[in-house]
Amino acid sequence: MKFGYSQPVEIRFGAGTRTEVAEVMRKHGFKRGILVADASLVANGRADEVAKAAGLAAVFDGFGANPDITAADKAAALVKDCGADCVVALGGGSAMDLAKFTALVAKSGKCAEELFYGQLTAEGLPVIALPATAGTGSEVTGVSVMSDAARGAKKPLVSQAFFAKAAIVDPELTLSVPPFVTATSGLDAISHALEAYWCRAHNPISDALAEKALKLMFGSLERAYRDGGDVAARTDMSLGALVAGLAFAPTRTAAVHACSYPLSEIYHMPHGEACAFTLDMFVRMNAALDPERTEALARALGFADCDAMADEIARLKRATGMRHTLKEIGCDDVEGLAAACAAHPLMQNNKKAFSAEELAVAFGGLK
Ligand code: ZN
Repeated sequence: MKFGYSQPVEIRFGAGTRTEVAEVMRKHGFKRGILVADASLVANGRADEVAKAAGLAAVFDGFGANPDITAADKAAALVKDCGADCVVALGGGSAMDLAKFTALVAKSGKCAEELFYGQLTAEGLPVIALPATAGTGSEVTGVSVMSDAARGAKKPLVSQAFFAKAAIVDPELTLSVPPFVTATSGLDAISHALEAYWCRAHNPISDALAEKALKLMFGSLERAYRDGGDVAARTDMSLGALVAGLAFAPTRTAAVHACSYPLSEIYHMPHGEACAFTLDMFVRMNAALDPERTEALARALGFADCDAMADEIARLKRATGMRHTLKEIGCDDVEGLAAACAAHPLMQNNKKAFSAEELAVAFGGLK
């Protein structure tokens, strides 16, 4: 056996840690930052609270669920206008991914389009990430998912330069997340952990992290969904999503995420719902490839076997209002969907890269 594991991000976890941005900036010698924040956190006053406490120069919220490269140009111009030397992110994956890409654009002096389609530069301004959902794990990964709406392109960009300097994970920031987003982001994080376990590049450290993350999240997602104010459930979900991020940062994701991109692009499903759509299906398909290892994981999590784990995911999807049939998402082209999923590059990370024919048969079971 031979493997490596590295994780460059400083992590601070706990209720109230959102007030530690200024301290982290001081520690690293950052003088001036801007805040990239979700509009919902500007509206509820959280962005202002964080910006004021940290003495940040400006707040940028001009982006949506799929941050566009034009937003990165605008945010980078704000960095320049403010003379900022770091970028602070507050929000879900969109805010963190945009902040990471903005930091690269601002440091490189190139425009966002050139970096999106060309070679990424090696270094960006430092980023401090404060996740306000329990989901993407973007605070500890070297991935930034960006879009170019003008050309209909969306892709995960991967670079060492996208690792944040610090992640400040304050579960209190997730208390106001509405139930639907709690469900989609939580199921995204559960997918990250399971895929880290199935990825070709898995190792004993990512396996242990995946198991811990799943233990935390299987026990708390439905509680957080039903009662957003359940601090214990929110804390478990925040920690679970963070640990899932640590699990998949080195392995990347696999079949579930490969399918999520076509499902989002063709049928406009939110990312987490698109992941959940095939998650129980791939639990069964991957279990068949490697029964001993996957059964061991299922039992460690308190399930009788892999089928019981898949059944629980299917139940969770129904309990949290996720669509789970092709009919519900308006799909009548199973072959086309299967071909797009099989062709996605992330499929190659799965223990076995399922073919379009195999996927078409499997999707047939979701009618
Ligand atoms: Zn994801």
